Order: sequence, then C-alpha cells, then structure tokens
Amino acid sequence: MYKGIGGSAGIGIGKVMLIVEQSLDFTPKTVSDTDAELQRYRNAVSKFCQNTEQQAEQLKESAGEKEAEIIMGHILMIQDPYMNSEIENSIKGGSCAEQALTDICNMFITVFSSADDELTQQRATDVKDIKNAVLSILLGIEEQNISDAPKGTIIVAKDLTPSMTAGINKDNVVGIITEVGGKTSHSAILARALEIPAVLSVQNITSLLKDGDTVIVDGSDGIAIANPGEDEILNYSEKRNAYLKEKAELAKFIGKATATKDGNSVELVGNIGTPEDANKVLECDGEGIGLFRTEFLFMDRDKTPTEEEQFETYKKVALIMKDKPVIIRTLDVGGDKDIPYLGLSKEDNPFMGFRAVRYCLKNIDLYRTQLRALLRASAYGEIKIMIPLVVDVEELRSVKAIIKELMAELDGESIKYNKDIQVGVMIETPAASLIADILAKEADFFSIGTNDLTGYTMCVDRGNADVAYLYSPFQPAVLRSIKHIIECANRENIMVGMCGEAAADPMLIPLLISFGLNEFSVSATSVLATRKEISKWSKEDADKVASAVMEMDSVAEITTYLQSI
Ligand code: PEP
Ligand code: MG
Repeated sequence: MYKGIGGSAGIGIGKVMLIVEQSLDFTPKTVSDTDAELQRYRNAVSKFCQNTEQQAEQLKESAGEKEAEIIMGHILMIQDPYMNSEIENSIKGGSCAEQALTDICNMFITVFSSADDELTQQRATDVKDIKNAVLSILLGIEEQNISDAPKGTIIVAKDLTPSMTAGINKDNVVGIITEVGGKTSHSAILARALEIPAVLSVQNITSLLKDGDTVIVDGSDGIAIANPGEDEILNYSEKRNAYLKEKAELAKFIGKATATKDGNSVELVGNIGTPEDANKVLECDGEGIGLFRTEFLFMDRDKTPTEEEQFETYKKVALIMKDKPVIIRTLDVGGDKDIPYLGLSKEDNPFMGFRAVRYCLKNIDLYRTQLRALLRASAYGEIKIMIPLVVDVEELRSVKAIIKELMAELDGESIKYNKDIQVGVMIETPAASLIADILAKEADFFSIGTNDLTGYTMCVDRGNADVAYLYSPFQPAVLRSIKHIIECANRENIMVGMCGEAAADPMLIPLLISFGLNEFSVSATSVLATRKEISKWSKEDADKVASAVMEMDSVAEITTYLQSI
C-alpha cells in the first residue's frame, strides 16, 4: 500500500498507464544570428499559446470554465512583459532560446517557491509547467498523448501538468497518482473538477508501478494499493459504489437553500484555518464562514504576524466570500494550542490557565494589532469579530472598549472600516453558558463551541483517552447547556450558531432545530451532508424528538434512541 495525499475524493480501480517524463536536456550554445533565434523563440511562444488555448477549450468542456481559466493564466504569464523582455534580452545577448528560457524561468521559480503561502508557491509550479511546455516545443518533443487512454485507466505520472489534464477523457480515466502536488495544486484542483479520484505526493511511484499493473486509487483516504487481491477489489468496489451513491444524493443539495422540511431557513457556514480554506467552503456551497481560527496564522513562525500581514489575510477571506458573513475569532492561544515564541510559561493546568482572551487582554499590544487589522479588513466584506473562551461579561466589555478606541484611532487616520461591525462571543465554558442571559444583552451573536463546552462541562480533557467515554455532546449536562444558551440568545434576538464539531452530527441536528439554533458552522466537506440532514426535519418532528431526549437521563439511553429514529 502506498500513502500519499488525497487530492480528489473517490475510489478508482483500473490499470496503470505510466507517463514517462521526456528528457528536456539540451546543450547550451552561443548564437550569432540573434534575430533568427529571437524569431525561433517567438514562434515557440505563439505555438505554446495556440496549444494552451486549444487545451483550455477542451477543459472548458470536460471540467468547466473556472478550470479552463487556470491554464489560460499560463498565456498571461508567458506574455508577462517583464519575464518576456528578460528572456528576449538574454537571447539578444547571445544565449540560445532554450538557455534564456530556462535561466529566467528558474529565477522566477526560486523566488515563488521561497514564499510562505501556498498560492505563491503554486505560481512556481505554473512557471515550471510553462518552461517545460515551451522547451518541449523548442526541442521538438511531443508530449505523451493520454487522450486515447482506454477505459479503466489509472494515470501514473511524476506530475500532472495542466496540459496533460486537458487531454484526459474523464469517462476512461478512473484514477490519478502522482509523485508531487498537494491539496491545492493545480493537478488536485483539476482532478477534483474532472471528478477523478487522485492520490498525490506518493514517493517514487513512477518507479514502483509499471504499465498494466492493477491499482486501487483511494482519493478519499490518500492511498493506492498495487496488485490488490480479490477481496480487496470487492471491498473497494463496494466502497466506490457507496461513495458514488452518497455523492449523487448530496449533489441534489448544491445550490439549494438550507431549510428544514417545513421551510424554516437556517444558515450553513464553514470552519476554516487559512484563507485558502475559504475557497473550499465556497466550492462546497457554504453560505459564509462561521469560524476562522486565526491561531493558525500565528503558528509555524518565530514572531507574531504584523498588522499588515493580518490585515491582508483577513481582507483576503472577506474578498473571497464577497458579501457573505465571515466570523473571525481572535487569537485562541494556550490550552492545547501552543505558540512557543509567545513565551507562555509552563502551567500545571493549561486548560484552566492563561489562554485565549485572558492572554490577549494582558498582552494588549498584540491584541490591538489583531483587532486593528480586523477592523481595517471589515471595510472589504461582512467581517464579524468573535471572542474565544469568555467566562465573564467584563471580558466582552473590555474587548468592545478596545475596539471603540481603535475605531476612534482609525477615524483620526481616515482609514475605512465597518462602523457597525458585530462583536460576538464563543460560548464554550460552563460559566459563559450560565451567564448566557447576561452575555446575550451585550453580545451581537453567540457561537457555541461544543468541543470545549463538552470538555469543560464534563471535566474531561479533550485529548485524554482514559476519560473519553465521558466526552459526548449527548451527555444530558451538555444538552441542557446547549438548550439554555440557544434560549437565552433567542430571547434577546441575537444570532446563535454552533461551530464545534457537533454541529455536523446528524443525531444532534434535530435537537438543534428544536432548540432554535440559527447557524450551523461545519467543515467544508460536511456542508452538503448537513444541509441534507436539516432538510429531513420539520420543527414539529424535531420538537417531539427533543422533548423525548430531554426527559432521558443518560448518554446511552439518548444515543440508543437517536440511532433508532
Ligand atoms: C470549540 O471549542 O468548539 C471550538 C470550535 O473551538 P476550538 O476547537 O478551536 O477550540
Ligand atoms: Mg474552543
């Protein structure tokens, strides 16, 4: 079994077609007739543009408009005045076209690959694709044709260039395995658009498999199985059929409003950790962002991100989501989320310690920087600010006071922001739940963090296997807490959502509908399944289930009942 990254979900079983990388080696030479060499280069570029346009047309048919635009972007890149003039100047200086192209492209590849963000890194791959395609034309090398791959083909390649993908017949190609590429690489995006299961970043796979080998590609779990036994084939065929059935079911919910069976609308939004995740939420038809965990922005680096960096990140999410709501949670550090350079001291009980809003209010410069960045970004979309781990209304008041000061500061500098920006709190502690009536009078919205609320209510460490049996949102204590929080919010007419994992739990959904939850915030991949579950319940039926459950006294009784309905 080979492990890689699941780039496109689903299961494919078929026979390998190995794409052999053609050598693009050449002998560099100095040219004397630079005009003729320049012409040779320009001819190659125009051939490249012609080919790319053709491939874009094919892709438009097979994958869609957006995917075709990805490769049309390559034409803009090769025609970029700076890149093009650098290459042409090098040829005018006597380099052969192959060398000039390689040198300049490599320079761009180095710059782009050293960037921190995945999108810029992706541009390095784009330049590499362009370089290889133009080099092939200059060297007269034909790319292996995969458009006539027979039915049941699994493409195995070092990398899948967009031009290769354009030629794929999605009725015949049932899987893709590559040695490079991540979830957001173009090969992954295109494979997803073509709905072909893909496993990427499998080391040495082009040397491990040969033409004609039978392979199972499990793009959901990111594994490939070579020469499987009969049992494995049977098992994966069943898995594939179940996957396809569920997918067809869920597809019916794309573009539909999220509403109960009797037509009560609720919001269905996504949880994200990076701006790029916002695209995923949109792809999955999410209606906004219910939780952006900003701590990921502070991790894997050695100092806090600047106001400018944070502003750009928050603005990016706002722009991606256009006028859809985007709830951004301020830094939730501490507990299980360690950020070494922040210098948090070792605590005996970090979950009860100096964390989240407690830390931020004591490290005011850091907090002001984040809140200022959030306010500035609010000029670009529907950003709302959310405070984690609130236990005391004074915390909400303090944050609101800082925001007010910062607004005056921004007014003085004539910087735009949303003057009516909403400030809400996460309800994820028993204290917040017990004072939900007080908090609801001063917060603009609630979001219930069941991951922590369950842990703190049950006095169970989220990660401790010995007490995991107690960690359940179906504990009567947790259910009563959730019901109470929702009632307090509804009484004050403020929006109440849930961004803990439980929001996507099909067994909890009828209870949440009955209690009156307004917003479900789930991972992108759970959006459609959650919409489907919500659509199954009328308020009346959900109320019946909820009244029965709220009379029960144990998790076992509750879950047995919920599983049976
Ligand atoms: C929660 O506690 O439910 C929550 C959504 O926050 P996190 O998982 O980031 O602690
Ligand atoms: Mg939490």
